[in-house]
Amino acid sequence: MSVALYTHASCLAHDPGPGHPESPSRLASVLDALEEERFALLVRVEAPRATRAQLARVHRAPYVDDLLANAPRSGWLQLDPDTLMSPASAEAALRAAGAACAAVDAVVAGDVRRAFCAVRPPGHHATAASAMGFCLFNNVAVAAAHAIAAHGLERVAIVDFDVHHGNGTQDIFCGDARVLYASTHQWPLYPGTGASEERGVGNIVNAPLRPGAGSIEFRDACIRTVLPAIDAFAPQLLIVSAGFDAHRQDPLASLELETDDYAWITRRLVDLAERHAGGRLVSSLEGGYDLGALRACSAAHVAALMA
Ligand SMILES: [Zn+2]
Repeated sequence: MSVALYTHASCLAHDPGPGHPESPSRLASVLDALEEERFALLVRVEAPRATRAQLARVHRAPYVDDLLANAPRSGWLQLDPDTLMSPASAEAALRAAGAACAAVDAVVAGDVRRAFCAVRPPGHHATAASAMGFCLFNNVAVAAAHAIAAHGLERVAIVDFDVHHGNGTQDIFCGDARVLYASTHQWPLYPGTGASEERGVGNIVNAPLRPGAGSIEFRDACIRTVLPAIDAFAPQLLIVSAGFDAHRQDPLASLELETDDYAWITRRLVDLAERHAGGRLVSSLEGGYDLGALRACSAAHVAALMA
């Protein structure tokens, strides 16, 4: 069954400025990797824009409107210490969130079985009313809310293996039992949330990993905590916050994952999607700041989605 790749040229044009780790070359590396012959069967789709209504399901309407209205005509607009908008950023943010919604539509319709959204800016730090940590709109949260509102799904699981905790995603859904949010992340680390005691209404599952933890600790946390929680929740759709910055080469964090760990966790998540969700899985790119590791890990992830 087919796997789709959603992306858009504007996601390459979003530029947080010279020296910023969330650079356009990140996405260029991912897309270049996916040009290899083994990815020839990917169904390539140009991401549409998210609609205001889709965004406003999880973001405050004034935040959406201000973000789209205030994009700079030249130079940069700084939204928080790490998060900047360039002239192309609003369009990129709309396409990044729109990719995730369109991917949900496609897997629910059965047009494709799984999808990977190769997009930026990333999303999991963005809260209902604020940009944060390189993120403008919370792409996976918008997608989960879309699956519930537009398709009537009652249980959506978001799995986040980015090295940073997805504080925005947790914050948006911490009172909503229709969405399970399960995260592995380094702790302590930015943004400081993600302690195992943070449980929401029983729908938040945090598996923090100490600095220096590697494959054994990561897989153990998945086997003991994350994967059983998803299995028990029996989601009708799996959404993945696919950050690759827990790799040992990443400059922003101190976990020691190997490329093969991303193939491993992806296979486990595909298995759970097959068991509970008719195979439906949508993955969206989050972090990953070593270009070589990002290239290899995203390729391993997509190859496992296609297996
Ligand atoms: Zn990250």
